Amino acid sequence: MNLVKFKRNNDNSSFHIIFDDGFEADLSAHFLRTHCPCAVCSGEEVLLHKYVSQNQMPLKQSSFELQKAEIVGNYAIQLFWKDGHNTGLYNWDYLKELALECTNCKS
Ligand SMILES: [Zn+2]
Repeated sequence: MNLVKFKRNNDNSSFHIIFDDGFEADLSAHFLRTHCPCAVCSGEEVLLHKYVSQNQMPLKQSSFELQKAEIVGNYAIQLFWKDGHNTGLYNWDYLKELALECTNCKS
């Protein structure tokens, strides 16, 4: 499975993704950012305890604006947000999971 398309929609706040197995979905920037998988945003699991980082940045308007997206090694996409946050790597499985969860997340 591979991501073949990650395209900004006309509303400028959501993205259309297409996988090579025919899976297609829309994901909002807001949903993607609030589900950022990086250690800072999602907390780190250490010895089965989940620690939520204290230095998590407060989210602001620019936190939900995507500057660019880069494919990383054929397994994930890295999102660069305008507030400078770019440590989130969304692998294909996670992206698909989010898309399935994001049935009504465009607004
Ligand atoms: Zn993050």
